[in-house]
Amino acid sequence: MFQPAQSHDHPAFTLDEGISLYVHVPFCLSKCPYCDFNTYQGIESQFEDFLTAVIREITAWSVVLGRPTVNTIFLGGGTPSYLPDGDVARILDAIARNYRVSDDAEITAECNPNDLIPEKCAEIRAAGINRVSIGVQSMDNGLLAMLGRRHDADEAAEALERCRRAGFDNVNLDLMYGLPQQSLDQWQDTVARVVSLAPEHLSLYSLTLEEGTPLRRWVQQGRLPEPDPDLAADMYEHARAALAAAGYHHYEISNWTLPGLGSEHNLAYWRDLQWVGVGPGAHSSLRVGDAGSACRFWTVRSPREYARLARDWEMNAAQAGLWPAVSADRIAAVPTVDGSEVSDEATTAAETMFLGLRLLDGMDIAAASARTGIDLSDRYRQELAELKEDGLLVWEGDTRLRLAEEAYLVANQVFTRFLVE
Ligand code: SF4
Repeated sequence: MFQPAQSHDHPAFTLDEGISLYVHVPFCLSKCPYCDFNTYQGIESQFEDFLTAVIREITAWSVVLGRPTVNTIFLGGGTPSYLPDGDVARILDAIARNYRVSDDAEITAECNPNDLIPEKCAEIRAAGINRVSIGVQSMDNGLLAMLGRRHDADEAAEALERCRRAGFDNVNLDLMYGLPQQSLDQWQDTVARVVSLAPEHLSLYSLTLEEGTPLRRWVQQGRLPEPDPDLAADMYEHARAALAAAGYHHYEISNWTLPGLGSEHNLAYWRDLQWVGVGPGAHSSLRVGDAGSACRFWTVRSPREYARLARDWEMNAAQAGLWPAVSADRIAAVPTVDGSEVSDEATTAAETMFLGLRLLDGMDIAAASARTGIDLSDRYRQELAELKEDGLLVWEGDTRLRLAEEAYLVANQVFTRFLVE
C-alpha cells in the first residue's frame, strides 16, 4: 500500500546514510577521437594546480557537510592513472583526513592499460585503491588504432595481469561495440578473449557518435562507414549469451558482474542516493528541503577556472563553517558550482522510474513511491499498462516491476514514456 513520505518537523533526508564521492581527473595523454568527456591533452602544466584545487574542494565540502561518511570513492575522468606518482595517494589521504571513509568502502580508479606498469599498480594499491577499471575498449588491434587508443590488445591483457600481481581482486574492463568497421566475428573474439581473462566486472557500451568529435566527423565525411544499429544489437545479444554462459550476472543494462561484485559506486547512482563530485565538470546530487528533492549541480568545466575558484571557496568555506542544513541556495553560492537545479515532481517521478528500471532486477514501485512521496503507480497508470501490454515491462507480484528482456535494447524508448506531465 502506498504511504507518502511525511516529514513536517525536520528534513526528510539527511546525510546519515553517507555519500559517494566522485573525483574528476581532467587529464589524458592523448584525446581519443570518440570521446566528449571533459578531458584534455597537453595541459600537464596544470597537474599541480589541479591537485591543490581538488584537495581544497574535498576539504571544503567536508567542512560544510559536517564530515559525512563516504561509502564509495571513484577516481574517474580522464585518466587518473596518468597523474604523477603520489597524486592518487594525496587525493585519497585528503579524503581520509576529512571524511569518515567506511571500512569496506569501494575505492575505484579508472586506468589506461599503458599506465599500469608494475610500479603504478603497486603505488595506487598502496594508496588505497581497491578496484581498478581499465579502458580496454576492444581486443582487435585495428579497431584500437581507429579508436586512437594508445595500447594494443596484448598490452590490455598484460595490464590486467599486472593488477592481479599487485593484489587487485576486483577489476572492471570497459569495452565498446557497434563501432564503424567492426564485424560480429571481431566482437565475438573480443568477448571470448576478455572472458578468458576473468575480470570480476564488465561494462559494455554501444558507441555513440558524439557531437563535435572527430569520429563523428569522419563518419559524416564518409571516411568511415556509419555504424549499423542492427549489427550492434546482434553484438549485444551475443555478449548477453556469452557472458551468461561464463557465469556473469547481467545486473544493469550495460553492466555484468561475477556474483556479489556489482559496482557499489554506480549502484549509488542508480539507486538515486547522494553523491558529491569534485573536480572540473563533476556532477553532484544532494537532497534538499523537507521534501528531500534532489538538487543536481555541476562544477565549472575549465580546469584553469576551476583551480582559481576552488581557491576562493576554501577561504569562504572556512569562514562559513558547517551549514545548518543543505539547501539549494547554499549550493548555488559555492564558487566552483557552475549551475544547479532542484528536481520538480515530474522530473523526480521520471528519474525514479529510469534509474530503478536500469537495474535489471527492477524496482519496488511501492517503496519508490514511499521514498519520493509520489504515487508512481497512479501517476503512470496508463503508461505502465501500455508498456506491459507491449511486452516491455514485467510485473513480479503486486509491486515489483522490471524491464522485459525484449526491452533492453530499446530501454531509452521505454524511459521516454515516463516523460509525461
Ligand atoms: S582515455 Fe578515456 S577519457 Fe581520455 S580521451 Fe580517451 S576515452 Fe576520453
